[in-house]
Amino acid sequence: MTEPTKTTCPYCGVGCGVLVMPQADGTVSVRGDPDHPANLGRLCSKGAALGETLGTAGRLLHPRIADERVSWDQALDRVAGRLGEIVAEHGPEAVAFYVSGQLLTEDYYVANKLMKGFIGGANIDTNSRLCMASSVAGYKRALGADTVPCDYADLEAAELIVLVGSNTAWCHPVVYQRIKQAKQANPDRQIVVIDPRRTASCEIADLHLPIAPGTDTVLFNGLLNWLRREDALDWTFLESHTEGFAAAFTTARESAGSVPRVAAACGLPESELADFYRRFARTERVVTLYSQGVNQWSFGTDKVNAIINCHLATGRIGRPGMGPFSITGQPNAMGGREVGGLANQLAAHMDFAPEDIDRVGRFWQADGIARAPGLKAVEMLRAVEEGKIKAIWVMATNPAVSMPDADRVRAALRACELVICSDLFADTDTARCADVLLPAAGWGEKEGTVTNSERCISRQRAFLDPPGEARPDWWILAEVARRMGFADAFPYRSAAEVFREHAALSAFENDGRRDFDIGALADLAATDYDRLTPVQWPLPAGREAARLFADGRFYTPNGKARFIAITPRPPATAPDDDYPLVLNTGRIRDQWHTMTRTGLAPRLSSHIAEPFVQIRPVDAAAHGLSRGGIAELTSRWGRMLARIEVDADQRPGSVFVPMHWSDTLARQARADALVNPVTDPVSGQPEFKHTPVQVSLFRAA
Ligand code: SF4
Repeated sequence: MTEPTKTTCPYCGVGCGVLVMPQADGTVSVRGDPDHPANLGRLCSKGAALGETLGTAGRLLHPRIADERVSWDQALDRVAGRLGEIVAEHGPEAVAFYVSGQLLTEDYYVANKLMKGFIGGANIDTNSRLCMASSVAGYKRALGADTVPCDYADLEAAELIVLVGSNTAWCHPVVYQRIKQAKQANPDRQIVVIDPRRTASCEIADLHLPIAPGTDTVLFNGLLNWLRREDALDWTFLESHTEGFAAAFTTARESAGSVPRVAAACGLPESELADFYRRFARTERVVTLYSQGVNQWSFGTDKVNAIINCHLATGRIGRPGMGPFSITGQPNAMGGREVGGLANQLAAHMDFAPEDIDRVGRFWQADGIARAPGLKAVEMLRAVEEGKIKAIWVMATNPAVSMPDADRVRAALRACELVICSDLFADTDTARCADVLLPAAGWGEKEGTVTNSERCISRQRAFLDPPGEARPDWWILAEVARRMGFADAFPYRSAAEVFREHAALSAFENDGRRDFDIGALADLAATDYDRLTPVQWPLPAGREAARLFADGRFYTPNGKARFIAITPRPPATAPDDDYPLVLNTGRIRDQWHTMTRTGLAPRLSSHIAEPFVQIRPVDAAAHGLSRGGIAELTSRWGRMLARIEVDADQRPGSVFVPMHWSDTLARQARADALVNPVTDPVSGQPEFKHTPVQVSLFRAA
């Protein structure tokens, strides 16, 4: 009997292991891998339906230029030639790569090396900027490096789990299953959900705090103040392993104040707020698990640090069952963070410090390596609009749907001198803006690795031949690099060779500097790639991997974690008479991103078949809306249509719309066309969670 292929789910950042077995009828069976540490055999509805999303329906099968089929040689020559001409005429900053947390680490590595090492600009950024950049920035500010200090087993070891801005039940379903089973096994385990909406995750909550949108910094500043007042701080840890507490505490006390003041600011009952504070103060093993509801704000980094401050103050980090735990949205957002997928990073967790530039430049033998950060996602698309960027290569993502102010992004792409799009599908909103389309191999068709939210590296393995002429992204990039004159630096014949180089760079000239251990994969450089089993970093050469921060030492120059003083700020734009309601966007249980893959599985679409807007009964009545009709939503940035769902689980004054639908799937259905493109000044992450909108009846039921 043939052995199943061990691979990894390509959807969310939980990173579940999957066993795939081809069937006699040409289909494949998919089940959870009982040996994978992320899911231990579990799968959610999306993972279980993976076999239904394979096949050639809608696939881009051949390279195309100006909608004509061409050979790979013609397409690659055109891409390399035009990029080279534009760089020669306008400089390296005139070209950009917009990449994706869907790419495998090997793809990401080659894209980053080509742009930053050899084209010599740093305009490569990822759609992960839209989902977790604030957590990256928050960890770096507090811990000295982008290091998630928890793993999934901590959720089972915790006595209190605080879910903040995370509908885990729908967005990270297997993590939710693990939490739920842990709760069933021990009903004394406490769950607190902090979210403006009453979501599916509240099913297991002991307490739900329906916080006013954007007031989390006040709530966690208030908690810091409470912990100090109740003498619940860990002074030994605080004095030995942290710095900056006095300033952070003073700012927290002055900005948040007493429980009644915090409760009023957050729109919460005093008794329930105090209940949460008491639970946090008296429970030793606390994990605060957070996601897009924390990150996607113009002050998302401050939210992250307000949470981390409370863990540092109580010494609840670096030990089992505790810590501030950001879970990533995409399957390889973390892998991108490791290899420089963000415009402000180099590779192997290095930044643009002179010694880092020198180290990476010598490893790559790249004399022309970029010396300064590039443009972050929203800035990058703005530079396309302004004509400063004349060529953009979009890989494995759909910014014409998923970027804030999406109409403007689509118009910018249409007007851009050269748009290259490598993707699985020919008919996405973004692919329709492209001059050159390059067929990419997808899940099950290529080899590579991904890293999940708990820093666990897993293999994705091929079990199908790519359809038509589709090729892996790393191959496409390397072929373009060769044609641009960089053949010596891009000699790869397999994903394994790329991975070995990435692992070797992570350990290059490790001269004992502790921060070089972050993400160091020295031992993996020599590992048999085909036999690579899930492994968590850091993996310092010659030493046992240990729990991060177990010794109380952090990746800052003096080894101490930093408190960050947080002065709460309001969202960028307040509701007014013209736009009186607050739009919140997010995911639904059975769809992924812009539905290019999950939309292929009928049973996934049967969960929720069309875009909707959820609105509280009192707000629906005030705006003349009734269940089943079509609403028109408008903001200062755009317009969309959606089915009306009257829903008592929404906060008064707030509406919720899913982010998944595109104009390819339904008319005027792109939620992100409405979204304010303002970004966090620290992280560059947009404010997807707070756009003032008007909602009116477009058509009655
Ligand atoms: Fe895939 Fe995420 Fe579901 Fe796991 S939880 S099966 S990684 S979508």
